[in-house]
Amino acid sequence: MNRRQFLHSAATFGALTAAEFAPWQSISAATMEISDFVRGPTVKDHPLRQISSHVWMIFSPDGFPTPENQGMMCNITFVDTAKGLVVVDSGASVQIGEMAIRQLKKAFKKPVIAIINTHYHGDHWLGNHAYVDAYGDKLPRYSHPGTIKAIQGIQGNMWRTLMEQWTNQATMGTRVVPPDQPLENGAELKFGDVTLRMHHFGTVHTPFDLCVEVVEDKVMLIGDVAMDRRIANMDDGSYLGTLKAYDALEKTGCTIWLPGHGEPGADVLKWNRELFEGIYRPCEQAIKNGTALEEAKAQVLKDPRVASRARDTKGFDTNIGKYVSLAYLEAEAAGF
Ligand SMILES: [Zn+2]
Repeated sequence: MNRRQFLHSAATFGALTAAEFAPWQSISAATMEISDFVRGPTVKDHPLRQISSHVWMIFSPDGFPTPENQGMMCNITFVDTAKGLVVVDSGASVQIGEMAIRQLKKAFKKPVIAIINTHYHGDHWLGNHAYVDAYGDKLPRYSHPGTIKAIQGIQGNMWRTLMEQWTNQATMGTRVVPPDQPLENGAELKFGDVTLRMHHFGTVHTPFDLCVEVVEDKVMLIGDVAMDRRIANMDDGSYLGTLKAYDALEKTGCTIWLPGHGEPGADVLKWNRELFEGIYRPCEQAIKNGTALEEAKAQVLKDPRVASRARDTKGFDTNIGKYVSLAYLEAEAAGF
């Protein structure tokens, strides 16, 4: 070993040693024992907003988790019933759940009596932890049986870990508290003056999405089945399943669609339908014509339904390539 090599390996060794014995490392070892006490910071207050006579929400301005927003990326919805408050999708961390509970306590003199989680993506259920801390372990947490199984299985810890990574540990301290009460398509929950009716349409955004109809208000809480100005994660979803679900949803007579991401309104399904038609139909045509994926992608980007939405769609540039590939695969599998 010459001097230069020696210095190099000594430096490498030195760096490793410093890392191994850095104060951060000893703190990290200590956290293994006291993990319950190590938590990411508090999330700043976001205001409650009334949508209809029984429906309230906390709006999330951002579409994706970052260290700055601490995972605040999913709308949190509350149904105000004579029996108490029902939470639909609890946010991405215990800190976000605690923030939401602070807002509820300012506005209402009633407890949370149930949670519904629309699907297994972590931004829709990791906040459950805060509600069982505040209202007890017996608080019923409803979801589709497939979602319950997924969160109790691999999706639960996977999402908890991913959320910590994406937020640079801001969500630390969040426990996986899965839903435990199964609800199938057509099930109804009555809470005094309010009826919540469940809709499941097969594979849409995931195989197990629930849409929650607030019957008396003609409001549908659609989770990630449709989004407003954000492109959905379609890794486990289906474009054709989504378009079919929109047909069924439109027949319910609801007038407001409240999504997990973006603004609620009368045109959310229409906005998302046109985006997905603009992605899927050119892929379908490409499969019919025997055109390669790259050419299909070019056609999608040129499609006016896609091109007109690209600029104000959150996550468009980073995700469109992948989601065109998924549409292409789905069209291929559909047998054209
Ligand atoms: Zn989702």
